[in-house]
Amino acid sequence: MLHIEPIPLLRDNYAWVIHDGAHAVIVDPSYTESDQAKQPSPILAWLDARRILPTALLITHHHRDHTGGIGAIATAHAVTVYGPGDSGIAGITHPVGDGDRVHLDAPRLDFSVLAIPGHTLDHLAYTLPGRLFCGDTLFSCGCGRVFEGTPEQMQRSLARLAALPDETLIYCAHEYTLENLAFARHIEPEHAELLAWENEACRLRDAGKPTLPVALGDEKRRNPFLRWGDPEIQRIAQEHGATKNHDHEQVFAAIRALKDLY
Ligand SMILES: [Zn+2]
Repeated sequence: MLHIEPIPLLRDNYAWVIHDGAHAVIVDPSYTESDQAKQPSPILAWLDARRILPTALLITHHHRDHTGGIGAIATAHAVTVYGPGDSGIAGITHPVGDGDRVHLDAPRLDFSVLAIPGHTLDHLAYTLPGRLFCGDTLFSCGCGRVFEGTPEQMQRSLARLAALPDETLIYCAHEYTLENLAFARHIEPEHAELLAWENEACRLRDAGKPTLPVALGDEKRRNPFLRWGDPEIQRIAQEHGATKNHDHEQVFAAIRALKDLY
């Protein structure tokens, strides 16, 4: 049986551990050098406590809060490290890119790799049937900041993710749901599903639980950054600089710019 569990790290990062009770693959092992000086890797402590051996790491992009844990884990265990090959991430043993597959024997898993540039140019997503590990590209009711790519590139990347089956569960790399909901509710105060999700997300956070994963089908109805085809989001985009309502890239760019100023 497959388990997928988050390890909260830094302020709001999640490293996702996918394991079968004996072996694990870890997506985006965060952990900074300054932390390493002070204490042992919290990921290694989590694994040791459960007697689970890490066999592989999957890296979505080059930001330190997604790669900082590679060194400590690779020093302690024989792990293969999959990730972008072109952005100088130390410790990558198996560079992967769009259309590649990652076959693992333990846990027995077969991931597909999607290139989704925008937040960074090297950004990758990893999918299993019904599961999406998307780093900093898609969040519940939000999306990543466009640091290196263009808004148009980010919209096309999000459209690739939105084309996955609606029942796909999304494992984002940060707990940003409530912050994203504040913006989403600000621009769409009458959206009933946003209000209901905000209430539920508050309840989960008050109980110390993650708000993730979320289902893609739910996000397609409530996330303003996936609803470039929705007349209400198009109206808001037009009020804020989008000139062509049916240009999905322009609608997305206007909403993303609005959030950057929020
Ligand atoms: Zn990032």
